[in-house]
Amino acid sequence: MSETFNLYLFKSEKQLTPFLHKEKKEGKKIGFVPTMGALHRGHISLIEKAKTECDIVVCSIFVNPTQFNNAKDLEKYPRPIEHDMEMLLAAGCTVLYLPFSSEIYPEGKPLLKEYDLGYIDKVLEAAFRPGHFQGVANVVFRLLKKVEPDVLYLGRKDFQQIQVIRKMIEIEKIPVLIESCEIVREASGLAMSSRNVRLSEEAWNNASVISQTLFFLVEKRNEFNSIKTLRTEGIKRLKAIPDSILEYLEVCDAETLRPIEIFIEGKPSVILTAIWIDGVRLIDNVLIS
Ligand code: AMP
Repeated sequence: MSETFNLYLFKSEKQLTPFLHKEKKEGKKIGFVPTMGALHRGHISLIEKAKTECDIVVCSIFVNPTQFNNAKDLEKYPRPIEHDMEMLLAAGCTVLYLPFSSEIYPEGKPLLKEYDLGYIDKVLEAAFRPGHFQGVANVVFRLLKKVEPDVLYLGRKDFQQIQVIRKMIEIEKIPVLIESCEIVREASGLAMSSRNVRLSEEAWNNASVISQTLFFLVEKRNEFNSIKTLRTEGIKRLKAIPDSILEYLEVCDAETLRPIEIFIEGKPSVILTAIWIDGVRLIDNVLIS
């Protein structure tokens, strides 16, 4: 017999807080998965991980305007809320927190706190999406204050975002553990993303070259003379994708996100890329442990 679950839907802090306080008083461990909805198996993998480690799993869906630096992207962001709720219910999520914008930004026009995130707020995603990480840091701070979880579950799909949130949590001295979770991919290797639904069938097929390129570079990394030649080969392959505009392909230290010139054993590195295909911006990365 399959298990049946309940999903509590809270649209305001007034409903959420008493529920969570009661659970915390009983010693329950709270896991939190913040999302922007349009859920797919990548999001659900975080919910499932949280479920194995926590008593209560809270998922938030909030399409955060302050992290979009492109009005069209915000407008086109998919919002299939009923489907999302079905997925959360099936995954055994306990609470869906679906706040109104006014609850997250009671100031109306959001006054963002300016975090000094240092180097990670200058490179890669930050260089191409000015203000994006300030928006991310602010919204995650506000959500964490409302949920006060024991563990925060984040996907490595947004590799740099994890570093940003880690830094914000350090600055704000928030007592929460971060669990970074593996990237979930389509059978073709394409990293799952809410934006993938905007790809045409042809572009979807072409987009699988992104992960194929990253995997190729990792597998053959010792056959290149240098990281420079490895990067050049990667750029060549990605630029060959039809109807694409490559933003970056970089090989970095996985902790500092500074570019590296050689792979050092025992020091994790990461190859990261962002590319537009068919007018859709996609990001992906592979971690070399
Ligand atoms: P988003 O809804 O895009 O803001 O993502 C919410 C959370 O899900 C973030 O921590 C993402 O890194 C994570 N996530 C998104 N896509 C994937 C994926 N393909 N695999 C694993 N985690 C993911």
